[in-house]
Amino acid sequence: MATSLNSPPIRVLRSTNRYFPNSPLAIGRNHASWFVCFTRPYGIHSKRADMCLNYISDASSIESISSDGFPIFTMRGALAEENLSNLLGFRDEEGRVVVALLETRKLEYGEEEYVVEVRVPDAELMHACAHCGKWEVPGGPRFLRCSGCRARRYCSVECQKDDWKQQWHKGECSLLKEGKLFEAERRRRLHDNDWWMSSALSGNGAFGDARSAERRFLRAMDTFDRDFLAYGARTPPRDVRG
Ligand SMILES: [Zn+2]
Ligand SMILES: [Zn+2]
Repeated sequence: MATSLNSPPIRVLRSTNRYFPNSPLAIGRNHASWFVCFTRPYGIHSKRADMCLNYISDASSIESISSDGFPIFTMRGALAEENLSNLLGFRDEEGRVVVALLETRKLEYGEEEYVVEVRVPDAELMHACAHCGKWEVPGGPRFLRCSGCRARRYCSVECQKDDWKQQWHKGECSLLKEGKLFEAERRRRLHDNDWWMSSALSGNGAFGDARSAERRFLRAMDTFDRDFLAYGARTPPRDVRG
């Protein structure tokens, strides 16, 4: 049911601009969502996924593959331009560019959509457990991959078994195997185009309750919540029990 990955290590990145230049980063995937991730919890916030990057409008926005065989995603919204310039400044330890801009599309009202290519093989990206939302850690064990679709990763056999439900992975595995990522996403509706604005550290959630991140951290310290201290707050999927 699950195969252990003989994977290369997660590719660790540095920012050459003001996006946390001193913190090792990674590009992360969780279901149809793409993230900038900290490779370790960042300071008091203990967050692993810092920012959801992609905007899903249609199948091409998550199912496309570039002519060089790399995955493509699209970016849109108020923060897209700044996020893009940050991503273009990411380099791996050998100085290689990891995200390239393929196309800029003009939308209505002067808004732009950016189509970007992720020049890192999927096996070197950081993956979240498709069930509980935990993220991999550089140097730690790579997660198990569903041998059916090879598209979803699990931190444990328990998580994989628990995810095999009609409305969850069982219902999407064959779709993913056929490359129908958009249909699988539409079925489960886990991606949130406004996730960063509503949920991330600097988003509305944080503005509305400025000390909530700190309180969550202190509570985790009090209760010695190893899971939280290691992985931070859960990110989507939101159909998973808390
Ligand atoms: Zn898990
Ligand atoms: Zn599967």
